[in-house]
Amino acid sequence: MRIATTIAAAREHLAACARPVGFVPTMGALHAGHIALLAAARAACASVVASLFVNPMQFAPNEDFSRYPRDAQGDREQFERAGVDVLFAPDANEMYPPDFSTYVEVGSIGASFEGALRPAHFRGVATVVAKLLNVIAPDVLYLGQKDAQQTAVLRKLVADLAFNVRVEIVPTVREGDGVALSSRNQYLNERERSEAPSLHRALQTVESALRSGAAKETALERGASALSPLAVLDYLDVVDADTFAPSDGLKAPAYIIGAARFGTTRLIDNLRVER
Ligand code: AMP
Repeated sequence: MRIATTIAAAREHLAACARPVGFVPTMGALHAGHIALLAAARAACASVVASLFVNPMQFAPNEDFSRYPRDAQGDREQFERAGVDVLFAPDANEMYPPDFSTYVEVGSIGASFEGALRPAHFRGVATVVAKLLNVIAPDVLYLGQKDAQQTAVLRKLVADLAFNVRVEIVPTVREGDGVALSSRNQYLNERERSEAPSLHRALQTVESALRSGAAKETALERGASALSPLAVLDYLDVVDADTFAPSDGLKAPAYIIGAARFGTTRLIDNLRVER
């Protein structure tokens, strides 16, 4: 595995890579969800490129940037084992030199849900991914369904700005009890971790209510009541999978999306509804 910490070195390594190149952007603290993305890229592409960059631009000042889990050495070993050919691991100064001043605004697709609760989040995500796509110039971009609104925002970015890349969405990897793997799960204490499966159960409850013919509002009420009383629900809704506009859940494809706080830790999850 070649490791590049500068844009110039990444471009040099990329020039020697066989095509197609599959690209998996990450913020590290790797878990089986990240490994599933890397495996999908490894299975379909001649070369696999990953990035490891905890992007300060997508965190608000009151969020967890400084305590976000970091394990550069452990991550490097996992990237290597997953068959990554090139790892791009820049520092913040390489990505955002002091005179950096250009940003990607994402519009209404990123204004609701995560975007409403985290106002500068998707601007930060879109800006860093646009820059990463320009550095790596991959043929396929691998994203996790776990962050469903992010996938919709980035598909729109790719379409609107005509990036020459195909986007592949990899299904969410879960623990045995249904909790979606997330680098942030390690913030949960024992009690919170034992309540965390209730977010997935809430989504499943909405899905089965919709499938049994309940109206959307009724389905959402039933779903909310499946959430642990110790958790604080940020949102629970059904949206169009492409636009993230509200959906009645009957038009496919849709996502049932939810976010809840367990103590100080926010978890997000979703189920995709196909018909
Ligand atoms: P992150 O390091 O959290 O920025 O995530 C990097 C990529 O891994 C994103 O495309 C995420 O959607 C994806 N990802 C995170 N958790 C999971 C999971 N449990 N299953 C599948 N993909 C995931």
